[in-house]
Amino acid sequence: MKIICIGRNYAKHAQELNNDVPRQPVFFLKPDTALLRSNLPFFYPDFSSNIHYETELIVRINRLGKSIPEKFACNYYEEIGIGIDFTARDLQEKCKTKGLPWEIAKAFDSSAAISKFIHKETLSDINNIHFHLDVNGKTVQNGNSAEMLFSFDAIIAYVSRYMTLRTGDLIFTGTPAGVGPVKINDLLEVYLEQQKMMRFRIK
Ligand code: MG
Repeated sequence: MKIICIGRNYAKHAQELNNDVPRQPVFFLKPDTALLRSNLPFFYPDFSSNIHYETELIVRINRLGKSIPEKFACNYYEEIGIGIDFTARDLQEKCKTKGLPWEIAKAFDSSAAISKFIHKETLSDINNIHFHLDVNGKTVQNGNSAEMLFSFDAIIAYVSRYMTLRTGDLIFTGTPAGVGPVKINDLLEVYLEQQKMMRFRIK
């Protein structure tokens, strides 16, 4: 399986990192070795001193698809989860300055923390999903899928023009404004609507 991550999908987040608001989705990949599940702790890596959380809604692809028309994209996922796209912001800034790929900043081990998944039919409107991240009991990031520049369906249509999607592939759909650093011993709790989806520590 592969993990596809959308960048700059919320206008206010693009602005907070001094990026232009894109006309088309921006995406990059993480390998399956980046997965962090089951509320296991995230171990702060020794190659960065500025690891940021980015809280993101995730869709899980449920069938094979290539060049999927946007109007049919809703048939390619049933489950929604939430995750943290951990980012070594210090390394990413160096890569961006030099125009280099982002992998060392984005694709490292445990950089894709994922929650359990819930069936989309249990949500009243997938285009109006509120989510938030609490760090040490304080809400630090709030988002809503209504604010996404590119919808789940638009993302699937766009990405599948370039690469075949397979059952089990995950798409991180971008983070809202409010990203920030984590530190050792922080407790992260991630909510989708009012449901606590995951809870883990930085170690
Ligand atoms: Mg992200």
